[in-house]
Amino acid sequence: MKTIIEPFRIKSLEPIKITDRAYRRAALENAGYNVFALRADDVMIDLLTDSGTSAMSAMQWSAVMMGDESYAGASSFYRFEAAVRHITGCKHIIPVHQGRAAEKILFSTMVKPGDVVPSNCHFDTTRANIEARGAEAVDLVIREGLDPRAKHPFKGNIDLERLEQFFATTPRSRVPLCMITVTNNTGGGQPVSMENIRGMSRLARKYGVPFYIDACRFAENAYFIKLREPGYGDKTPEQIAQEMFSLSDGCTMSAKKDAFANMGGWIGTNDDDLVQQLRNLLILTEGFPTYGGLAGRDLDAIAQGLKEVVDEQYLRYRIASTAYLGNGLLQRGIQIVEPPGGHAVYIDALSTLPHLKRHELPGQALACALYEYGGIRGCEIGTVMFGKKDAQGNDVYPAMELVRLAIPRRVYTQSHIDYVLEVCEEMMRERDSIGGMRIAWEPPALRHFTARFERR
Ligand SMILES: *Cc1c(COP(=O)(O)O)cnc(C)c1O
Repeated sequence: MKTIIEPFRIKSLEPIKITDRAYRRAALENAGYNVFALRADDVMIDLLTDSGTSAMSAMQWSAVMMGDESYAGASSFYRFEAAVRHITGCKHIIPVHQGRAAEKILFSTMVKPGDVVPSNCHFDTTRANIEARGAEAVDLVIREGLDPRAKHPFKGNIDLERLEQFFATTPRSRVPLCMITVTNNTGGGQPVSMENIRGMSRLARKYGVPFYIDACRFAENAYFIKLREPGYGDKTPEQIAQEMFSLSDGCTMSAKKDAFANMGGWIGTNDDDLVQQLRNLLILTEGFPTYGGLAGRDLDAIAQGLKEVVDEQYLRYRIASTAYLGNGLLQRGIQIVEPPGGHAVYIDALSTLPHLKRHELPGQALACALYEYGGIRGCEIGTVMFGKKDAQGNDVYPAMELVRLAIPRRVYTQSHIDYVLEVCEEMMRERDSIGGMRIAWEPPALRHFTARFERR
């Protein structure tokens, strides 16, 4: 069979409000041209993020009813811990309310001012939490990972030569840990190969640096390994995920991604001393170690979600549906980060709006145009998210200017995606009329969430 169907049917639904362009133009103006400030009701197809937006299964909703809300030692925690340990093999598992809480607690404990933490690419909250410690977050993704057109089966790989050079030239006392993000969200949702993870693990051991996986999309990464890496075709995604984690010393996780939960996360570690310090901080900021800022029912939703996310039929549909959007855009002359990633398609805003200069924020302009033309909400991953000023006050632009269309898990059908493609086609016909933007107001950190913009 050529046709890959959504391997589920719909039991409960959410209506979509159909709006017109004049309505959306007004909504956009009200939102200060920041799509994060739109009311979700005013969005028709919400591709802002795949985080916390998954449709939960009937089995997950049933598990929610099993939630044990005891303060300490709830049975929900033990089901959660068993499910996480089954996949990650981690000795210690600490629940937290979401991924950035895991980062905050891990880095507050391990990272000190002046330290440097290498990764393939740090995600925005990961980078911000490292920088908030007065440390530096270094991205060492392979060169192909920074070129939207370069084709490589594992564009999320870290450059092992540069990593070794980094380890060899940076004092060990300044490198508290190294990380790999699977799949590489910032670099286009691109996978990392097992060979690369193994190589990194070996280097980390050689130089005595703890190796943590930012595991948000571990199941999608495992499926790409199955599809693309020799020797893994006959393994299950679960076995591949287990092998990935076995090469690490721990992980941080947002269960809002590959656990189908609307909230949650964890820190996993094998370090007996570290875990004591992590738990002390957890109690201070999140909660008791058997709930960590979550309700018992959240822990049960995660435990069940982890069983579903490694299902091969689900992953086959998931990766195929993302590729369907990506290939449809390419056919319409819209350059994306190729090949399409796991959870999202990343449009190259520079070639899509070639008449706009970097300082005119082409990514932001494109995100606004997608909303105005079709009520589609995507997310700028470019100058607004990662741009900086140097010491002289000049703009420093990130390598790529992207707009991410992230696909919520099990939420939209193929006809929704066909609509997105038609909107993009119409927008491309009129692209010369899409103007640039400027920042009208910005906060000191993570400005993309709350900045306001105006049309130039
Ligand atoms: C979402 C995400 C995080 C942060 O998780 P939150 O649950 O949003 O706090 C960290 N790393 C990566 C790669 C992510 O995608």
